[in-house]
Amino acid sequence: MKLKLLEKYKDFLPISSNTPMISLGEGFTPLVKTKHLGEMFGIDLYLKYEGTNPTGSFKDRGMVMAIAKAIEEGAKSVICASTGNTSASAAAYAAAFDLKAVVVIPAGKIAMGKLAQAMIYGAKVVQVDGNFDDCLKMVKKVSEEYPVVLVNSLNPNRLEGQKTAAFEIVDTLKKAPDYHFLPVGNAGNITAYWMGYTQYHKASKISSLPKMMGFQAEGAAPIVRGHVVEKPETIATAIRIGNPASWKKAERARDESNGVIDMVSDEEILQAQKLIASKEGIFCEPASASSVAGVIKMAKKGIFKGGECVVATLTGNGLKDPNAVLNEVPEISTIPNDLSALVKEVGF
Ligand SMILES: *Cc1c(COP(=O)(O)O)cnc(C)c1O
Repeated sequence: MKLKLLEKYKDFLPISSNTPMISLGEGFTPLVKTKHLGEMFGIDLYLKYEGTNPTGSFKDRGMVMAIAKAIEEGAKSVICASTGNTSASAAAYAAAFDLKAVVVIPAGKIAMGKLAQAMIYGAKVVQVDGNFDDCLKMVKKVSEEYPVVLVNSLNPNRLEGQKTAAFEIVDTLKKAPDYHFLPVGNAGNITAYWMGYTQYHKASKISSLPKMMGFQAEGAAPIVRGHVVEKPETIATAIRIGNPASWKKAERARDESNGVIDMVSDEEILQAQKLIASKEGIFCEPASASSVAGVIKMAKKGIFKGGECVVATLTGNGLKDPNAVLNEVPEISTIPNDLSALVKEVGF
C-alpha cells in the first residue's frame, strides 16, 4: 500500500504517538517537467501539479495535518472561512474522520465546483454577504469563544502539512530549484514552502535555497501595494484576499530568500491558464496560473540568464472552476446531423 503523507514526513511534522495517521491519499503529486513552456524562456521549468490531491488542491496537505491534530486533541467540530478550496478540503476530511465541519464563505464568490464539494461532503455551509477577510474575522472569533477548532492557515498545523510539497520537490529533483513561483492569497502557502525548504536545508538535504517568487492578482495585491485592499477583485477567486493572514511571514520568506512578491493582471492569469493547458496538457484553476503568469512576467523582465531550474506550483484543479474558461471561449460551431457537414467543418 502507498505510504501516507503524514508517515513519509513524520520526522519533520508535529506528530506524536497519539496523532492518528489519517489519510485520503493526499500528497505525492506530480512534478511535471514542461515540454514547451520552459523552452520558451530558456529555463528548466517544472510544474508541481497539486490538482491531483483528493479534493483537487494543495489544501489537503495542510488539512490532513490540521484534522489529525484536532482529532488528537479530542475536537468534535472544525470551522473555516474559505475562498472555496479550504472548505472543500475541511468538509472532506471532517466527513471521513467523523467531525462536524462548518464552512463560512463569501456569498456568490465561490467557484461552482468548490461549492458543490462542500455541499456533497455534508458540511454546514454558511454564506456571508461580505468578502473572505470578513469571513475569516468571524470564524476566528467563533473559534476563540466556542469549542470548535479553526482549520484556516492561522492554524499552524496547516502550514506544517503544506510544507511537505517543498520536501517532495527536493526529493524528486535531488536539489532545491533556483526559483520557486507560486500564487499568493492568504500567504500561507509561500510561508509553508519556505519553511519546508529551510528545514531541509538545516537537515543538510539541500545545499542551496530557492528564491521565493509570490504572485498576487492586481485587484487583490495588498502585499505588493503595501496596504489592505478593502474590496479585492479578481477572476482568480482563490486569491481574492485583501488582508492576508500570513502577510508578515510571507514578506519574511521573500526577504530571506532574496525573492519577490509581485502581481499579475486577470488577463495575464487567463492567458497563462490557457498556455498551461494548450502547451502542457494540464488544466489548473485561474489562481494557480498566476504562478506561471509570474514566470512569464519575470522572463520578460529578463531575470533568467538561461538554464535555471524553476518550479511553479499549480495549486488547484481547473475542473473546480469551469465557468472561468467557458465565459472566455469562442462560440462552438453547431452543424446539422450529417457526416459531410462534419468533414467540411473540421476541414479534412
Ligand atoms: C488557497 C489557494 C491559493 C492561495 O494560497 P495561500 O496560502 O492562501 O496564499 C492559491 N491557489 C489555490 C487554488 C488555492 O486554493
